[in-house]
Amino acid sequence: MSQKDYYQILGVARDADKNDIKRAFKRLAREYHPDVAEDKSAAELKFGEINEAYSILSDDEKKAYYDRYGHAPGANQGDPGGGFGGFGGGGFGGFGDLFESLFDLGGGGGRRQQARPSRGADYRMGMRLTLEEAFQGVVKEVELTSDVACGRCEGRQTLEADGFAACTTCHGTGQLHQQVRTPFGNLTQVAPCGACQGRGRTLKKPCPECSGRGSVEKKRKLEVKVPAGIDTGKLIRMPGEGAPGNLGGPSGDLYLAIEVDQHKTVERRGHDLFVKKSVFFTDAALGGTVDVEVLLDQKESLKIPPGTQNGTVFRFKGKGMPKLDRSSRGDLNVMVEVIVPTKLNSKQKKLLKEFAEAGSQEAEPHSLFDKIKDALWGGH
Ligand SMILES: [Zn+2]
Ligand SMILES: [Zn+2]
Repeated sequence: MSQKDYYQILGVARDADKNDIKRAFKRLAREYHPDVAEDKSAAELKFGEINEAYSILSDDEKKAYYDRYGHAPGANQGDPGGGFGGFGGGGFGGFGDLFESLFDLGGGGGRRQQARPSRGADYRMGMRLTLEEAFQGVVKEVELTSDVACGRCEGRQTLEADGFAACTTCHGTGQLHQQVRTPFGNLTQVAPCGACQGRGRTLKKPCPECSGRGSVEKKRKLEVKVPAGIDTGKLIRMPGEGAPGNLGGPSGDLYLAIEVDQHKTVERRGHDLFVKKSVFFTDAALGGTVDVEVLLDQKESLKIPPGTQNGTVFRFKGKGMPKLDRSSRGDLNVMVEVIVPTKLNSKQKKLLKEFAEAGSQEAEPHSLFDKIKDALWGGH
């Protein structure tokens, strides 16, 4: 075990300072935490190594010793009888306990999670939007009730300077070192102290506001910037708005799952919009210009060529939904619905009969049609 290069394990240079070492340790510990890693057994081994390396390199005395002799103080490799003193009766039974406390192999519940700084949980919440809001983008306020760091103690769990006392079991280190015999030789294991959950201290005077939890449940309001073009199924991430972390770990994130409501008149398919426009049969036959109202104040002028049939679709390029990256917009499609009047007065009936008798290609259909149009809608 003396061949281990603790600097290499943490991926830091030999002249790295304390902060570099700490940062490297935190990053690796998160990455190889057996709770999150995909290959759990490999991660557990690596996690053990990382902890071991950090326990040496973060301790000035041990680091100096290691730098000089190439192994940790007390790591009497080659001496198989090396110290089991004082830890749970020793022997290989001790190894089992130790391993459990390191990795919860025996199903020890959430104990390990409390032992190290850990990131808070992510929250997920639904958010409904109208199509107009999705079209234009909107700043929305959301209200949620969740744990936040206690405002009175700012997450420190106590108000007193001496609110904590050093743990007597681990003498404030938060860790217990144990030499174990393995078929491969002696191995120094580092385990979080069970008495203080690895904190190195125990809470003597808890904050009265949060009873020492460091967090309280609170109703709060957040402003969410919703970008134009968002669609159902997208998630908006609010960094740091999730559950507070443990032992000073970072907070989780809040994810807002977007659901865009259906619109009464406008249908959305991806970036394209579809809308129906009712057109009088005279306009469809003679041609004309009509206004198409879409979303909010968007109004497009639609030129209908003479002889337009029911169901004809006209496309307005680039007049649909904005794309999320704002590079361009989808298209607007307008489908013409030709309206035929259901009630006719005697004059209208007479003119339509005349039209029918004249036949569509003979006589003067155009002027006759104009007369019909006037009769129907008074000179449209
Ligand atoms: Zn508090
Ligand atoms: Zn302790």
